[in-house]
Amino acid sequence: MLNIVLFGPPGAGKGTQAHLLIKKYNLIHLSTGDLLRGEIAEETPLGMKAKSIMDRGDLVSDNIVIGMIATKLDNNPNVNGFIFDGFPRTVAQATALDNLLKEKETSISAMLSLKVNDNELIKRLIERGKKSGREDDKNKNIISNRINEYNDKTAPLKEFYSAQNKLSEIEGIGQVKDIALKLNAVIDRL
Ligand code: AMP
Repeated sequence: MLNIVLFGPPGAGKGTQAHLLIKKYNLIHLSTGDLLRGEIAEETPLGMKAKSIMDRGDLVSDNIVIGMIATKLDNNPNVNGFIFDGFPRTVAQATALDNLLKEKETSISAMLSLKVNDNELIKRLIERGKKSGREDDKNKNIISNRINEYNDKTAPLKEFYSAQNKLSEIEGIGQVKDIALKLNAVIDRL
């Protein structure tokens, strides 16, 4: 199986690149942000619990997202692999993901980390907020909080995957198609 962690701060282009990768390599896209927004749209108890946390730009609890991913892995047997987008975001999530994949006799193939500076991230997210309607894209303070959450809790995962020799860093500024080619080159070398 090909199991890719697509990594980077909010606004790095993970979702955009994930859509290209799933087509090219015939993978399943698992975005915990999308799954949570789906729960909110359906007004489920989980969605209602997550909404205020997401609107503030904080991380929702590990148990919630790990549970969602576990269900998706169970519901998609016999696939080519997965793109994990926005998950894992903490060391606890990364450890849980390793264990879940081990139970299925597979593992993470690579972490592809998109590098984008803070000024560019803020610019992109404010621009996206004009169309996305996402509360957490509209306000500069909330965007800053999301970037801080990333730096505090999520960025350390680069060490986690680097220790497993799985980290590749890719420049995330440039044309979408050029960044996609760089991601493809790393995957094709696996
Ligand atoms: P995203 O669409 O990946 O930018 O996620 C939007 C929001 O959903 C985040 O700011 C968090 O509040 C929440 N979220 C998404 N994925 C996770 C995760 N793996 N762990 C904790 N919170 C998450």
